[in-house]
Amino acid sequence: MKTRKLVMIPGPTPVVRSIQDQMGRETVAFGDPEFVKDFKELLEDLKDLFRCSGEVFVVAGSGTMGMEMAIANTTKKGDNVLVVSHGFFGDRFIELGKRKGLNVDILASEWGEIIPVEKIKEKLGEKKYAAMTVTHVDTSTGVCAPVAEIGRVMRDFPDTIYIVDGVCATAAEPEYVDDMGIDILFTGTQKAFGVAPGLTMLWASQRAMERRKELGAIAEYFIDFEKWLPIMKDPSKYYATPAVNMVWALKESIRIIKEEGLEDRYQRHRKDAAAMQAALETLGFKILANESYRAVTLSNLVYPEGIDDAKFRALLAEEGIMVAGGLGAYAGRMFRLGHMGNIDKHDLVSVIATIERALYRVGMPLELGKGVGVLQEMLLK
Ligand SMILES: *Cc1c(COP(=O)(O)O)cnc(C)c1O
Repeated sequence: MKTRKLVMIPGPTPVVRSIQDQMGRETVAFGDPEFVKDFKELLEDLKDLFRCSGEVFVVAGSGTMGMEMAIANTTKKGDNVLVVSHGFFGDRFIELGKRKGLNVDILASEWGEIIPVEKIKEKLGEKKYAAMTVTHVDTSTGVCAPVAEIGRVMRDFPDTIYIVDGVCATAAEPEYVDDMGIDILFTGTQKAFGVAPGLTMLWASQRAMERRKELGAIAEYFIDFEKWLPIMKDPSKYYATPAVNMVWALKESIRIIKEEGLEDRYQRHRKDAAAMQAALETLGFKILANESYRAVTLSNLVYPEGIDDAKFRALLAEEGIMVAGGLGAYAGRMFRLGHMGNIDKHDLVSVIATIERALYRVGMPLELGKGVGVLQEMLLK
């Protein structure tokens, strides 16, 4: 019999049936009054939930498009930008910025550590930066940046647009756009929202919108705020065809989030992450991210001595659990396990049990049930 697949990579994450059903609906015209109403409600919910008094954009694309959209609408060639990088996805802004002809300064941490907020403050004082990018959770390291604390520092630098990559954080790590002083937050559907890949969500503060205006005409066409704004105000208008079924799927995800309660969802992620991380440490894995700033959305697990990465992950896949390999210098030395979105205790227990079976099969001496036991205890706390 074929084993069911549980996709536990850090995105895409498991998509529950009610969201799949929305993707399977008969597609309607983007001007269909029912769809227009649904799209409008979705946009309002996104603004409310993430407390943004500015604008929100929902456009077909992936997380990377959100990165490009943020930079395209707030900077111009020759501007200074500061990239705060805690890993692979932070670094992605470097090439993106250079291609646009920006002067990119970089503050990069060791993998697993963060750049101290004091250091960011010091750097921001050195010259005038048009924008600064921070990756809330860098998926390559499992490190969570202190975005609220950085936001407080940003108050002293009103000319610098504060861009936060929430692709592996939004809907699992607390994010309040206005309160945290974030100018641009963007994310994708396939991570903590538990929707299939396909949509980019981007929140922009009034300040970010003013910056866009100051830039005048920009070179980018599809991702221009000014092109999309009229559609976000009135989704019956046309600019480029919206991903109708994906909008419905995201709307169902928002319904699930509202039903759970966003704060309760954050709390669940904290609790699940602590339980998973304790269980995995019991099994002999080392968590790459320093304990003081570990993400709740995923764990990056360095292998104990003697485990072959390819073999281990192949066995896990055979047992039905898909995980991701390590990136950069950690390729072959680590695997990445997502634990975010619309997953439940059944999934968590199953994942730890499956990891135990795979460890057993690669010949690790271990007491079966040890990790599951720790997980159970933590989940019952
Ligand atoms: C996944 C991810 C991205 C890239 O998103 P895509 O949808 O793959 O383009 C960017 N930033 C972070 C933090 C991510 O986790």
